[in-house]
Amino acid sequence: MRDYTASVRLAAEGGLPPATLNLDVPGLEELSNAVHALASALNLQISSLDDERTRLSAVLEQMTDGVMIADSQGFIQFANPAIARLFETNAVIDHTVAEVVRHHQLVEAWRRCQQTGTPQTESVEVPSRRQFLQLIVIPDQHGGGSLLLVQDLTRVRRLETVRRDFISNVSHELRTPLASLRALTETLQDGALDDPKAAVRFLGRIQTEVDALSQMATELLELTRIESGQVPLEFTTADPESLLGSVADRMRAQAERAGITLQVECLPGLPNVRADVPRLEQVLVNLIHNSVKFTSPGGAVTLLAAVDGDFVRFAVRDTGVGIPADELLRIFERFYRVDRSRSGGGTGLGLSIARHIVEAHGGRIWAESEEGRGSTFYFTIPLL
Ligand code: ADP
Repeated sequence: MRDYTASVRLAAEGGLPPATLNLDVPGLEELSNAVHALASALNLQISSLDDERTRLSAVLEQMTDGVMIADSQGFIQFANPAIARLFETNAVIDHTVAEVVRHHQLVEAWRRCQQTGTPQTESVEVPSRRQFLQLIVIPDQHGGGSLLLVQDLTRVRRLETVRRDFISNVSHELRTPLASLRALTETLQDGALDDPKAAVRFLGRIQTEVDALSQMATELLELTRIESGQVPLEFTTADPESLLGSVADRMRAQAERAGITLQVECLPGLPNVRADVPRLEQVLVNLIHNSVKFTSPGGAVTLLAAVDGDFVRFAVRDTGVGIPADELLRIFERFYRVDRSRSGGGTGLGLSIARHIVEAHGGRIWAESEEGRGSTFYFTIPLL
């Protein structure tokens, strides 16, 4: 009996379930069985609680949102790893809310929650860390402390800004050709129609504006489809040398009409790349088209390819007007044109389409240039 009592005590301290008794005392064996069943059920519950706790802490560990629990004085009792990342500090546990969040509006939200006992939400911009954060503070009715949830809205805000800029850019880009179209049609209505020579000239200009508008519509649609992943790439094996050769053949007539020689310089025997060939040709055509557009007659455009680590680095080099150093990154942005007056009617979308295609291949695109001497556009495509 004493042994049995000891084994029940041991079980209470977290050991094995107590042994069952086999004494010849009426009712005692039944009691022992009941105690055994109780202990087993308890063990089962404890292990399922353990599982749940492990799962919960894995979720908290992996969450990108920050979670903190503060006591009634504002000292942090618990924080998941996202908190240290979001607030760029390792001093969290046992520090105050104010010390961790370091933003007066967020501290105020926590204070309001403590004073009123109602949940509070606050969004702030932290310029020093280029972040947009949202804090939700929920009161803990029993302990007097609070639960703080922190969401990083930086990406969402950035996307909103990009979208707003995009819409304002599109409206701006549409306004110029539409204004010309209106002016041209008004001039025709005001009498130019009666002068057949002038009418033909005006109609020709209307045609040019309409072509520019439809080109922009096509490129915008293309860009949107590529950006939203609606154009799945179909990768095949491609030989860099024959790729450059076939694109050069396609573009040679256009270059020669502009008085520019187009040549290919690449060592034979380059390894194959993994590429969506029509899309890659589109990138090259686009770059060559620009080079021809921004190079005076008598100049040259050269296509090159060479191995660069796990990639083949393609290049389109011209002897044209060049690009100022501080514009070299911006030209890959949508609608960006260095000098509108000499852009030759381009939309400023070509390079951003090229960038998307190259990045969808796992490569990168960039430009080097010397003003007045020429530019070289590079892009890399992974080897097979
Ligand atoms: P666009 O349709 O205007 O050519 P892109 O996106 O292809 O649009 O190019 C953006 C801008 O980058 C051009 O307007 C031009 O100012 C500049 N640019 C592109 N390629 C060249 C080049 N080879 N030489 C000089 N400037 C260039």
